[in-house]
Amino acid sequence: MIKEYGIIGAIVGDVIGSSYEFDNTKSIDFELFRAGTEFTDDSILTVATMDVLNKNDINYGYIQAYQNFSKKYPSVYGDGFCKWRDSDDPQPYNSWGNGSAMRVSPVGWAFNSVEEVMAEAKRSAEVTHNHPEGIKGAQATAVAVYMARVGKSKEEIGDFISETFGYDLSRTVSEIRSSHRFNENCQSTVPESIIAFLESSDFENAIRLAVSLGGDSDTITSIAGGIAGAFYKDIPGYIVQKVLEYLPKEFIDIITEFSKFTDLSPVSPGPK
Ligand SMILES: [Mg+2]
Repeated sequence: MIKEYGIIGAIVGDVIGSSYEFDNTKSIDFELFRAGTEFTDDSILTVATMDVLNKNDINYGYIQAYQNFSKKYPSVYGDGFCKWRDSDDPQPYNSWGNGSAMRVSPVGWAFNSVEEVMAEAKRSAEVTHNHPEGIKGAQATAVAVYMARVGKSKEEIGDFISETFGYDLSRTVSEIRSSHRFNENCQSTVPESIIAFLESSDFENAIRLAVSLGGDSDTITSIAGGIAGAFYKDIPGYIVQKVLEYLPKEFIDIITEFSKFTDLSPVSPGPK
């Protein structure tokens, strides 16, 4: 049994955002599930991160997990990532793409201090995304998940992220929406995703705001969903049930095992 559905926030975001990546909407009023809805690389590699943290085995790290899962589960991975995946001697390729941020949310659940979360987010990013912006995108996302999980307020989360990482979080979703175009950089998708979370009123609203930005919808919604899941904890049952129907049994098993980390959580005072 999955003990706390907040841990699948990033996967929910990916699944719901998937059909809008190449068919953007700029509205929050859209069908959550429709033809073309599926899990994509964001879910696959999030589950791979969970698998590493579950196993906690020195001989099974992010390189093996990301290679294994991406070979086993086809999706639209980036070109650089595909070369890396197929290499016998995979080396980081200095990416600042948002791939480092979309797979990192489990790190915010599995560690209990900002320092540990930052260090582990860097480890997960730098096997591929060793450019400073790639590492920063992963750290900002994971720290936001961590702070949300332990009951920090949106104001505390936003202030910490903008001070630590220099992201401009002062813009609004409607300001961003009019000019945001498809872009896969951490620098122009991670802050946008965090803003969608900060402006949201509940989990579903965070997902809807993130999709409504347009652009790289599955990844933006996955990053926002990971943080929103940690903050609101409660994902509506009709969304959880539907998303789980899209996932392979192996994913459900890994997510279920990953639930053990929710015991680490200090008792949450709930969203503020
Ligand atoms: Mg994707």
